[in-house]
Amino acid sequence: MERITMGHGAGGTLTLQLIKNHVLKHLGGSSFEVPLEALDDAAVVDGVVFKSDGHTIKPLFFPGGDIGRLAVSGTVNDIAMLGAEPVALAAGMILEEGLPLTDLERILVSMHETCREADVWIAAGDTKVVERGSLGGMVINTSGIGRRCKALEHNMAVVKRFRSGFGAKWILDSNLKPGDKIIVSGTVGDHGIALLSFREGYGFGYELKSDVAPLNGLTLKLMGEVGGIVAMKDPTRGGLATSLNEWAEKSRVGILVDEEAIPVREGVKAACEMLGIDPLEIGNEGKVVIGVIPEKAEEVLKTLRSHPQGREAQIIGEATSRHQGVILQTQIGGRRPLPPPLGDPIPRIC
Ligand code: MG
Repeated sequence: MERITMGHGAGGTLTLQLIKNHVLKHLGGSSFEVPLEALDDAAVVDGVVFKSDGHTIKPLFFPGGDIGRLAVSGTVNDIAMLGAEPVALAAGMILEEGLPLTDLERILVSMHETCREADVWIAAGDTKVVERGSLGGMVINTSGIGRRCKALEHNMAVVKRFRSGFGAKWILDSNLKPGDKIIVSGTVGDHGIALLSFREGYGFGYELKSDVAPLNGLTLKLMGEVGGIVAMKDPTRGGLATSLNEWAEKSRVGILVDEEAIPVREGVKAACEMLGIDPLEIGNEGKVVIGVIPEKAEEVLKTLRSHPQGREAQIIGEATSRHQGVILQTQIGGRRPLPPPLGDPIPRIC
């Protein structure tokens, strides 16, 4: 008998198979503007961006954040990735018997602070309690809605000025064209490695911290002040490798990435080498990958670097028609495919 494995939750090809072969088979079929089948960061229903996200991180508190900050940021970011302005969230909290009330209080304070940072409110919610067991304290499901905004209209007008015939209304995984530049807003792998080293007690000799943060201030600034962005994605579970492969598949382009240009912190690099894992497959919670028309790439990069969340941003590659899938130009001068990983090598990080 086939059963659910941890790999099904790791955000790679196993998760995708689970969604395609089971979830979409039964729950797909709507005619919404951006439906479930698009498997984009969020859906669009009657002009409203709509998203739901479960957060099962273990432990509840970790260097750089906690499950409350994560639950708000995760949903805010997915809404922001379509180019929308997040407006309101709903939070369903499942609490485990025995959870200290002081821990719950700390998490609620953190949720409130993160909401203020992202300029959203929690407008609805639910609390349930389950018996003492393996939940790890609590899990939070957040849903949210977002709306079109001036920054998005400006962004799309800039794209249309340079790309005649561009008809997309939202920033989608399927919008890339050959020549578009790929930018990452900062170092990759921080969140997953910080979690792993904290959880397992690895020292690695570096201070590692999660990057968990709401990114909507940054994305609205880039769209409103510069524009020309066609695709955005927060490289969460499965990391940059998963995000780029999703883009290549849905946009039907190849993506060529310069390995040396991808920013990775020394501590993350050292930890990955020691553990034999690839930082490009590790989840991030405060980074955005951006696909931008070539005419605006330098300006987007400059504006990113002027923002505290984008200081270490880099152009890491471009979309191309010369090959399919994602190809990595390696540091030693060769080229190798960067396939979508089976799953994130680190479980329960989001
Ligand atoms: Mg996402």
